[in-house]
Amino acid sequence: MRSFKDSGVGEKVLKAITDLGFENPTPIQEQAIPVLLSGEKDFVGLAQTGTGKTAAYGIPLIELVDFDNKTVQALILAPTRELCVQITRDLVSYSKYFSNANIVAVYGGASIDTQIRQIKKGSQIVVATPGRLIDLIGRRAVKLEGISYVVLDEADEMLNMGFQEDIDEILSHTPKEKKVWLFSATMPSEVRRIAGNYMTNPFELTVGKKNEGAENIEHYYYVVHERDRYPSLKRILDGAPNIFGIVFCRTKNETQDVAEKLMRDGYNADALHGDLSQQQRDKVMGRYRNRTLQMLVATDVAARGIDVNDVTHVINYNLPDEAENYTHRSGRTARAGKSGTAISFVNVRELHKIKQIEKKINRKFHLGKLPSAVEVVEMQLMVLIKKIHNVEVNEKAIAKYLPAVMDEFKDMSKEDIITRMVSIEFNRFLEYYRTAPDLNVDIAHQGRTSERGEGYRSSGPQMFINLGSADGFDKGSMLGYICDTAGVEGKDIGKIDVKGVYSFIEIPEDKMAKVIAAFGDEDYKGRKVRVDVSTERSGKKSFNGGGSNGGSGGRKGWGENNRSGGGSNRGRSEGYDKPREREHKKSYKKSSW
Ligand code: AMP
Repeated sequence: MRSFKDSGVGEKVLKAITDLGFENPTPIQEQAIPVLLSGEKDFVGLAQTGTGKTAAYGIPLIELVDFDNKTVQALILAPTRELCVQITRDLVSYSKYFSNANIVAVYGGASIDTQIRQIKKGSQIVVATPGRLIDLIGRRAVKLEGISYVVLDEADEMLNMGFQEDIDEILSHTPKEKKVWLFSATMPSEVRRIAGNYMTNPFELTVGKKNEGAENIEHYYYVVHERDRYPSLKRILDGAPNIFGIVFCRTKNETQDVAEKLMRDGYNADALHGDLSQQQRDKVMGRYRNRTLQMLVATDVAARGIDVNDVTHVINYNLPDEAENYTHRSGRTARAGKSGTAISFVNVRELHKIKQIEKKINRKFHLGKLPSAVEVVEMQLMVLIKKIHNVEVNEKAIAKYLPAVMDEFKDMSKEDIITRMVSIEFNRFLEYYRTAPDLNVDIAHQGRTSERGEGYRSSGPQMFINLGSADGFDKGSMLGYICDTAGVEGKDIGKIDVKGVYSFIEIPEDKMAKVIAAFGDEDYKGRKVRVDVSTERSGKKSFNGGGSNGGSGGRKGWGENNRSGGGSNRGRSEGYDKPREREHKKSYKKSSW
């Protein structure tokens, strides 16, 4: 392996990164640093956060910039304030032995006057969100004529957030001969377009496979009823007392709601989303970074790029609307070579999404089972006992109270005392879990447990499929289609009832999950196939799938592009943070899954 020194990194930076504990370059650093240090190449790096990409471009920038010159020579654009702050913090630490280095972060939600003053003091590197930088350009507060390097960090996310026009405008103010270094976790065509427009024969580097999740993350999904999402989250937290995690929600409201519920129920949690003031967000992040906060409940945008080491769990309270965000979310754990766990709660309707994510990230999910009440109680008890066992006793301070304490306990047996001590903290759990139900949804039993009316009757669980005689199916061809798609045999399939635009198929309990999952992103003649475990009630056919009535048109959902609206996802997306510092009329929205 090529060391930092072999890669051409100078003494001052070497000293600074050694102080940080960087011993060897990460793969992206090993490959990118020598290329970028030449200062002669445009660069495209396909890399997730957590790979060490900030140092991969930050170190060369620091080597290339002339810190004795007080003009802005490098510009780094990043999608969010948090990421700007983080990048700046990293670059400041790499450049700490350059006495004249002045690296400034500019982002919305903070005083623009202060930022202008900082730049005017002679900043050589500016780290900016696109919206705020446009404002600064408009006020002529930042001069971009001396720019030699522009870094676009998390380019896909900047475009996803509608910053495309801003980026174009910003780049138009920079000199033609500058070098552009672009980093992105994914490479949609819009990112390619930027590469095409602003780069000449760029050096391209992919770290890890395209769109692939980090190797050392274990992915679990838990199938729960919609109404049980919150109790399920509690169950996970109670079953993992040493968790240090992030709970991702889809909207600001949901984020606030979940955080408030957790706080009310005695968990060490707080919310991070775009409706909080910058000061509130900084405070929450500060508490999370120094680990006085155990659970961060966040929206995708607010938690974007957050780099906190040792996050043990990422929990998807709800799956994200966009496939890419799953990768971004889970990438908050297993950083810097550590391992981590990503957990997703899904209802039966969402099972196919798991299949789609698996395909996208090229990793298998495990079906998790929420711990039972008994298991949680046992786990908590053991943690408590360990705590008592390992507690550091301050002999000196406690000595003077001990005689009175001993006197109070003199009539009790050792067993009695231990039982009572443990009960002080334990009663809360005992009480809550005394009547706590099993929250796991047994996928295979879905059909059987539903109330049945006069409609279609079945002796076993049935699957609904949105294909029927209108699509040219009869019983025989439906049987063949199911068997081919799901890899099951004809003898595994029970009664088939083909209706006009939908059908019911009896599937044995032990095969149901497999069959449902196999239809994850199946298309039939260009139409998305939707399958579900049927929950028929009172003679009316209703399905877990909800929404449409099985007709062939307009059924949009996961796996389909929801850009044209109509899908229920749309409403949810609107709850997302809008981190824009100013209005943007036209915004590019990445297609969903
Ligand atoms: P990034 O992908 O830039 O967000 O970096 C992820 C984490 O890895 C950060 O906490 C860095 O401080 C850390 N890191 C980056 N490069 C190295 C290295 N060569 N050795 C150890 N840790 C590193």
